[in-house]
Amino acid sequence: MSATKFSVMVSLFNWMQKSKSSSLKRSKFRKFLDTFCRPQNGADYFAAIRLILPPLDRERGSYGLREHVLATCLIDALGISRDSPDSQRLLNWRKGGAKSGAFAGNFALVAAEVLQRRQGMSSGDLTILELNELLDRLATSDNRPEKISVLSELIRKTNVQEMKWIIMIILKDLKLGISEKSIFHEFHPDAEDLFNVTCDLKLVCEKLQDRSQRHKRQDIEVGKPVRPQLALRVSNAAAAWKKLHGKEVVVECKFDGDRIQIHKNGADIKFFSRNFLDHPEYGYGMSNFIRENILVDRCILDGEMLVWDKSANRFAEFGSNQEIAKAAKDGLDSDRQLRYVAFDILYAGDTSVIHQSLKERHQLLQQFVKPIAGCLEILVPNGGLNTHRPAGEPCWSLIVHDVDGIERFFKETIDNSFLSSTGNVRDEGIVLKDLGSKWEPSDRSAKWMKLKPDYIRAGSDLDALIIGGYYGSGRHGGEVAQFLVGLAERPSPNAYPKRFLSFCRVGTGLSDEELNTVVTKLKPYFRSIIVSITSDIRTVRSEVFAAPYSLRFPRIDRVRYDKPWHECLDVQCELVTSILIHFR
Ligand code: ATP
Repeated sequence: MSATKFSVMVSLFNWMQKSKSSSLKRSKFRKFLDTFCRPQNGADYFAAIRLILPPLDRERGSYGLREHVLATCLIDALGISRDSPDSQRLLNWRKGGAKSGAFAGNFALVAAEVLQRRQGMSSGDLTILELNELLDRLATSDNRPEKISVLSELIRKTNVQEMKWIIMIILKDLKLGISEKSIFHEFHPDAEDLFNVTCDLKLVCEKLQDRSQRHKRQDIEVGKPVRPQLALRVSNAAAAWKKLHGKEVVVECKFDGDRIQIHKNGADIKFFSRNFLDHPEYGYGMSNFIRENILVDRCILDGEMLVWDKSANRFAEFGSNQEIAKAAKDGLDSDRQLRYVAFDILYAGDTSVIHQSLKERHQLLQQFVKPIAGCLEILVPNGGLNTHRPAGEPCWSLIVHDVDGIERFFKETIDNSFLSSTGNVRDEGIVLKDLGSKWEPSDRSAKWMKLKPDYIRAGSDLDALIIGGYYGSGRHGGEVAQFLVGLAERPSPNAYPKRFLSFCRVGTGLSDEELNTVVTKLKPYFRSIIVSITSDIRTVRSEVFAAPYSLRFPRIDRVRYDKPWHECLDVQCELVTSILIHFR
């Protein structure tokens, strides 16, 4: 049994966090593994590595403790009143600790400051193994009193430094400044590869205990999630074409749903999300279709899970998947249903097919999947979804031969979702793919590229007034990092506007320096400043802001110090209403 103390790991973490040299960090980490985690020393690689890479640990379910809930549980675990200054600090962690602004946006540091006054400095001698057992209890208990009892036990058995790192482990963000790739590499040269095809950290730690023993490259298996291939972001069609020059290229709609791998193993169907979690709730609405219409016993499909709104005849807004899956589970009748679009196939029959070209995989998709319109569909050029698209809609997947072809497809796709009366394509740009390429787990090279409208400057800028601010976290902790902007209510002739309607929240577009200047100018009385906003050309209906619509992916293009506050656009001006008309 491992007797390595968690305090040893904490010393490593503290050192790593301070060090700037990545090679030193790597060698120190290797030394830690060799000295304290070797199985022959009675220790366990997995017990340590799962604490260093918490987002990759699938063995332990979710803690259900994001910052706010964790704050309330810590308050109860410490037995302090909700109104006490320390409780308020925890609950308002975004604003920082006792010294105004210090640690703002960093929950673990604010919590450490609060704990400092209540916890000793001497270690409670907690071992790595005991910590893992307590974290298991924290994750498996679904009642609050049990979670509070585990947290108080942790507080009792640790000192402030240890507890700070435990909080970071619970929040799954260690900020150690060392990449996942380096950690895998120092453990074993084949660790990353094996993790990519199994998404199983425990298996990786158990199989690769001997660094000198190379592991034969493993292929994907039905039942084990694979780390998805990703797309490289490009800023325009010409740049994409240049990268793909000489290749046979397919362009596809980029659907805005959940990336889901469907694993069919006989009657057993699994739905794995991008962070390798199983989503059995999709099974209620989908499993039967999968069993009957995937014409091969064992298969892995890669695609997007969306929600189709039957009454509106369009894809629903992103975010309703879970709700619809739950409605199907409860047998509730709904106008909405799950709709899976398979854009790739990774396994068919008794073999992995990721080494075949995309063109061949498209043929396999057509051979093995019997599409059911509106429910289970395939995305292939000259077939699949294209064959029964509503009249007048552009196609969803197309082979292109030049930049013009890409630009036309991009425009048609965006115009379709923007202008179409049915709003039939719920997409967020296009994906370009090399038809000759293999499917590579976790790859984000130029085999797939994404082109989105928000990377393209929209036509006219909207001049809106800053009417509020949001504190940032991390690098921007303690300072206003995002703004609430508003449009004026149309004033009477020759008068200044009197009321402003909140319109959208915007946080990107300015450099750190520009942001600093704006924030300094706004202080201390929050003076009025106009900013020009660009965005994706589409608007979204708004329930959060006072204006009935808001912008998708807004970005500050320029700060208009030259414009007085009253020259802010009003909600009825031509530019604003034209956006609204298009939206309708
Ligand atoms: P984004 O926020 O743009 O979705 P991301 O980081 O989630 O970015 P990317 O690798 O940049 O992921 O883009 C690929 C994602 O796009 C996939 O994970 C998938 O969910 C989605 N997608 C939608 N349609 C397609 C398609 N036709 N082919 C590939 N991916 C698609």
